[in-house]
Amino acid sequence: MRLYCFTFIFLFSYSISAQFLKKKKKKIISYESIIISDSATQRLSNAIQFETVSKTDSLDFYKDEFGKFYQFLKSSYPLVFQNCTQISFNSHAILLKWEGLNPNLKPNLFMAHQDVVPAKHQKYKWNYPPFGGVIKNGQIYGRGTLDDKASLIGLLEAAEYALKNNFEPLRTIYFAFGDDEETKGNGAKEIADWFLKNNIEFELILDEGPGVGLDIIPEVAKPIAFIGIAEKGYATVELTVNQESGHSSMPSKHTAIGILSQAIANIENNPFKAHYHGLAKKMFDEIASEMDFSKKIVFRNSWLFSGLIKKELAKKYSTNALIRTTAATTMFTSGESENVLPHKASATINFRLIPGDSIKDIMPYLKKVIDNPKVKVSFKGEAVNASPIAKKKSVGYRALEKSCHEIFPKAIVAPVLVIGSTDSRYFNLTCHNILRFIPLHFSNADLEHIHGFDEHVGIENYHNMIRFYIRLFQNLNDF
Ligand SMILES: [Zn+2]
Repeated sequence: MRLYCFTFIFLFSYSISAQFLKKKKKKIISYESIIISDSATQRLSNAIQFETVSKTDSLDFYKDEFGKFYQFLKSSYPLVFQNCTQISFNSHAILLKWEGLNPNLKPNLFMAHQDVVPAKHQKYKWNYPPFGGVIKNGQIYGRGTLDDKASLIGLLEAAEYALKNNFEPLRTIYFAFGDDEETKGNGAKEIADWFLKNNIEFELILDEGPGVGLDIIPEVAKPIAFIGIAEKGYATVELTVNQESGHSSMPSKHTAIGILSQAIANIENNPFKAHYHGLAKKMFDEIASEMDFSKKIVFRNSWLFSGLIKKELAKKYSTNALIRTTAATTMFTSGESENVLPHKASATINFRLIPGDSIKDIMPYLKKVIDNPKVKVSFKGEAVNASPIAKKKSVGYRALEKSCHEIFPKAIVAPVLVIGSTDSRYFNLTCHNILRFIPLHFSNADLEHIHGFDEHVGIENYHNMIRFYIRLFQNLNDF
């Protein structure tokens, strides 16, 4: 009976796949045939001109701007909005569903966010107005050109292009565009909850992340396409010291500020243990072949040199963050008057956890390194462990890798741990293979413009991003 069933299912699915194959062959969009027009450049410039700035209080959003931005998307990408079902949420988050040919396959989800960080405080530094969308010298300038409207608009450009060319995805594709990623991520959370409630599981989720680094690892001359296969966890802790208040002419040996400062110094001087295994090792294993002879020997023999490697990686903030859980003091409050002993001092410490370390490890660690019962410690807000690690063998990773080889032929593709956090953190229960990647070339200098002044993207760079997404849709059909 069982065997019969399997044979039947096999033959049935074979005939279905044969049909799909016939259809698929007609719809292939080859890399060479993709032509991106100037109007695509203009549409990104237009998108930049909507001031979709996220605020800490989500009710305070520039409601009109998000509403107008939505209307702009609808009129700019008519085929996408005609062919996709739209699922509404209370806030301004957008979810689109593009039905695939085979409803039995797990769908794919592409994510990007509509909101941007404010540009007010750096306004005088901008050479071009942050919401002007100025196109000059082969570049598009404005807040969101890198983070993250290029991805959002690039995905819609790719989908519109694919639809125009009668492409049909095998797996259903969802697009989720959050509206408050830069603050709370409530939009994405609502969408994630909706998927959980409806038992929808994904083959691939692709969210923003690192890109194709040009000079990020100076030891490697070739560009590196960093694909984020996991992201660090996030937790915030408040330290508080309460002391008797009094006159500053008769101070106790240690004031509340002194005790708390000592606690913070202890945390800084006794960081979490560094590890050279897992993700950091995976990344360097991939790129070591492009390093000079001596470094190649060291990284290829990490069983012998892991101590030396950890010491070297710990010297740079960016690589230090790849090998250990970090703790950063981000806020400190105390004192009201120059001649009064403060009765309270408090500090906020933000932790970013590597896979393998857990939220549960934070309190014992703090107790040990602070070693002072006067310092009270408590968690503040939401805490999440590091995400699961996506597999390099997964359909999503292989399709991304193939698309990278096509669009960035000179680049090495390497998996990496994402040290920031993205909206995708809410989707861990809906997908085993969440990837984070922005198909754009980045140099160290470009990174400074993200959340900074004169944020911009090269036109050719952006056009390649659209080509990448088109090819990714196609490559996902082939795996
Ligand atoms: Zn972002």
